[in-house]
Amino acid sequence: MEDRQTANQTFTIRFHRYNTVIVGSGAAGMNCAVHLYEFMRQKGIENPQERIVVVTRGLALGASRMSGSDKQTYYKMGTSPGVPDSAEEFARTLTAAGCCHGDLAIAEAIGSLREFYHLVQAGVPFPTDSMGSFVGYKTDNDPFERATSAGPKTSRFMSECLQRQLERYGVEIADNQEVAHLLTVGSGRSRRIAGVVTVDRKSLYRVRLRINVYLGANIVLAAGGPGELYQTSVYPKGQVGIHGLAFKAGLVGENLTESQFGLASTKFRWNVSGTYMQAIPRVFSTGPVRKSPAGGGGRGGDGLSNGAGAGGSDERDFLAGYFPSMSKMATNIFLKGYQWPFDPQRIENQQSSLIDLLVFNETQKDRRVFLDFLHNPVSRFWILDSGFSPSIKYRESSIEAFNIEALEPEAYQYLKRAGALQDIPIHRLFAMNPPAIEIYKQNGIDLYAEPLEIALCAQHNNGGFAVNKWWESNIPGTFVIGEMAGTHGVKRPGGSALNAGQVGGLRAAQYIVNVYGCELPDYSAWEDEITGQLDQLFARFEKYRAIGSPMPKVMIQRIQKRMTLSAGCMRELRTARRALKEAVELYRLIQKNGLSAPGKRALVWAIQAEHLALTSIAYLKAIVELLRLGSGSRGSHLVVARDGVEIHPDIIAPHLSPGLPGGKPEAGPASGRQKQLHRAPEDRCGGKVLKFKPENLSLRDSVLRVEYDDSLPDMFRCESVELRSAPSDAKAFEPAWRDFREGKIYRENER
Ligand SMILES: Cc1cc2nc3c(=O)[nH]c(=O)nc-3n(C[C@H](O)[C@H](O)[C@H](O)COP(=O)(O)OP(=O)(O)OC[C@H]3O[C@@H](n4cnc5c(N)ncnc54)[C@H](O)[C@@H]3O)c2cc1C
Repeated sequence: MEDRQTANQTFTIRFHRYNTVIVGSGAAGMNCAVHLYEFMRQKGIENPQERIVVVTRGLALGASRMSGSDKQTYYKMGTSPGVPDSAEEFARTLTAAGCCHGDLAIAEAIGSLREFYHLVQAGVPFPTDSMGSFVGYKTDNDPFERATSAGPKTSRFMSECLQRQLERYGVEIADNQEVAHLLTVGSGRSRRIAGVVTVDRKSLYRVRLRINVYLGANIVLAAGGPGELYQTSVYPKGQVGIHGLAFKAGLVGENLTESQFGLASTKFRWNVSGTYMQAIPRVFSTGPVRKSPAGGGGRGGDGLSNGAGAGGSDERDFLAGYFPSMSKMATNIFLKGYQWPFDPQRIENQQSSLIDLLVFNETQKDRRVFLDFLHNPVSRFWILDSGFSPSIKYRESSIEAFNIEALEPEAYQYLKRAGALQDIPIHRLFAMNPPAIEIYKQNGIDLYAEPLEIALCAQHNNGGFAVNKWWESNIPGTFVIGEMAGTHGVKRPGGSALNAGQVGGLRAAQYIVNVYGCELPDYSAWEDEITGQLDQLFARFEKYRAIGSPMPKVMIQRIQKRMTLSAGCMRELRTARRALKEAVELYRLIQKNGLSAPGKRALVWAIQAEHLALTSIAYLKAIVELLRLGSGSRGSHLVVARDGVEIHPDIIAPHLSPGLPGGKPEAGPASGRQKQLHRAPEDRCGGKVLKFKPENLSLRDSVLRVEYDDSLPDMFRCESVELRSAPSDAKAFEPAWRDFREGKIYRENER
């Protein structure tokens, strides 16, 4: 332990040494720690618990602990007794939409059941039938019924069960640790991440600030997705991630462009997938709460009045105008359940993602959208008469009334089999999934009494950091697992994030114990380097006390707004370029002038603002590059193009630009309305009929990489790399056994 004094603050610095330091206590990090302990034990290592630490900003935080949906999905290889499945078939599903390395997909497939049963053993209550079969169902992008669930809180159960196991093993979990820096030693190919520097959040309330330095021979990064990057988001609050810090340490990102967006409730952040949509609620919008009732719009004509909780004026059943029949519209609301993420390839010809787009379209007009579980979809509606203009005109139109028996066969048969043909959505939801209603009740929302506000939200990043088939990053000894690892391609089946997180932890632990060993590190030769980096960090902390500089919270809000507008579900090259330029300017400004975070408690905000600012540059740079390559609409985002495909004359292109005229960075807060409607000179698509560019299929065979390089104007270098394929050398048992005994399996490694 060591005390340091800077001009304004006194720090206590504690050094800790472990064989492996894991950052993040979500389902991925906890699982890796459990496996490490077990593999070390199997090797005969004494006191493995003293060699491993899990470091986290909050045990109760992160997507695993705080997020879910109606029945949060775990995707695994099929376990139904009558349905054959294979790892190769599973891997084919993972790679189907491209940009996914074959070796990672097959590793996730092969490790799937091992990890699933590991969770079952840990106590996660996945349901079985009376013969012990784990019952499956169909999820998005899933041609088989490989999905299972332990209910709305599957990932929470996973991390809690694994935590209990770690507690039984006596492995330390260092809670309340905000990561401020990743310590690096060496350069070029011998560069290593030697440790993790944290600010102890508990010490923010004490006289001395406590800094912890966790040195590790191996580092496992499991800090989740960059949730705080977006304004419209279903990531749990406080899920910051450490992407900016990892880029700065030299890790390489892949597929950052492939964020997923989908419908989610906003008051309580929760996905409205599965039975929430299969119950076929009425979907309506209102004007903003603060507006006085105005003419022009009207309610649907079923004699149903439901504004309770919506509080807005001017209800509109806006979906109906875009579907040729009630049957088509209601079936598509149903399909949103298991075609949940926004998918630009499911918009044309009135498919289910038209609903996402229409919800987004409403919120772009500054309207609020709700699901109403007390009423069936409404047949009369008001539709925009012509393009978006200040004098909005609507005309009345209608399709036939809701009739459950008129649903298309896929929806009707599903509901019939599920015993969910009741008269109104809330009764159907109750019949299918009572816990889905209960979870909202627990969070202050009574679906029997009020409609549920929703938006098209950022929920997951398929990309992340590049890893090899042992989940080792481009820096030897540093592994990346869970959502922080970029192992998914452009599309992934729902639930495969949780599978990937478990398999990644298993593979990393296996490699660490069998290749790098279980000893503690000795960084005495690097003492000067480590001290120098700590001094630089404390100098930055001093810069965070710069009176007159921007406040960190304001900076974070700016980053979030820009990301939602320019890097969300709608993208366009000019606006992405402008956003990138602004993001670089903002980061440079923070570096030069610091931030105004005078109190100790604001220090954490300042740390986050700086690394989120860098993260946003990486994401925007990747987006600009992909658009420049002519990628088109794919995964979960749509590329707006003047010469693209029109969807419907009433669907208007959003004004994507977050900037002021001339592309200057934002000068200060402006209302959301002002920003959305502001028309920058070169933003030609905004306000016109929305047209989109279809996917450029030729890019499916490569992955876009980004790497931090401060010497470049945009601070990141981009490169397209070819996909790695799955190994095809199936060996006979004896040679395979010999390779295993001799540890050769760990040497067949590509980076
Ligand atoms: C609403 C919602 C529904 C979802 N539904 C599904 C689903 O049905 N199926 C599926 O497969 N996936 C789903 N996902 C995705 C999935 O939940 C996540 O990808 C997964 O839980 C991530 O696990 P993880 O362990 O990698 O990270 P997380 O569980 O997010 O954990 C991150 C950890 O890192 C810590 N941390 C973060 N930042 C810092 C920092 N700066 N300093 C220190 N510590 C830090 C956090 O405190 C936390 O302990 C959903 C996501 C959301 C948001």
